Amino acid sequence: MIESKIKDTVRDVADFPKPGIIFKDITPILKDAALCAEITQALAERLSGVQVDVVAGIESRGFLFGMLLAQALKVPFVPIRKAGKLPFKTIQQACNLEYGSAILELHEDALEAGQKVLVHDDLLATGGTVVAASKLIQQLGAEVTAFSFIIGLDFLNGREKLEEFRPLTFSLASYR
Ligand code: 5GP
Repeated sequence: MIESKIKDTVRDVADFPKPGIIFKDITPILKDAALCAEITQALAERLSGVQVDVVAGIESRGFLFGMLLAQALKVPFVPIRKAGKLPFKTIQQACNLEYGSAILELHEDALEAGQKVLVHDDLLATGGTVVAASKLIQQLGAEVTAFSFIIGLDFLNGREKLEEFRPLTFSLASYR
């Protein structure tokens, strides 16, 4: 089962990036090409019947499977990045994170009004990052249609924050 394979492969790193945090390190997944293919297929299967015009991936680990998923769905990929990284004209949103805060940016021509966008990131913690990403998408007149994650830290209740956007939300592996 994909969930147990992900859980068996992810590595817990204590005290990263700050003391007291146990970080879920997904880099061991990336070393397993067969598992990467399985994850991409599982993400695409969970989205069958959902209209996705564009995949938006969040810096930086959201780019990894976000791009693979966009290719599997045969749709464009757009990157949402931290401030100062995107070269063209951008729109911005502040977000509160599990540890600290950040500003996210999106190219102002990344999306067209009315497009249905899947927001992808590697992990859902408090939900602050994807809420800010969703606001960027809405600023361009596009619509968030689903959120996908490899890992959900469900005990942090990030899903509740996503309810206001009312799309489908799923994680391939959940920690309760
Ligand atoms: P949130 O905004 O939901 O609190 O935090 C999620 C964001 O922080 C994601 O972009 C995710 O990549 C990153 N993040 C927070 N904790 C972890 C973790 O334990 N492992 C990984 N891989 N990413 C994390």
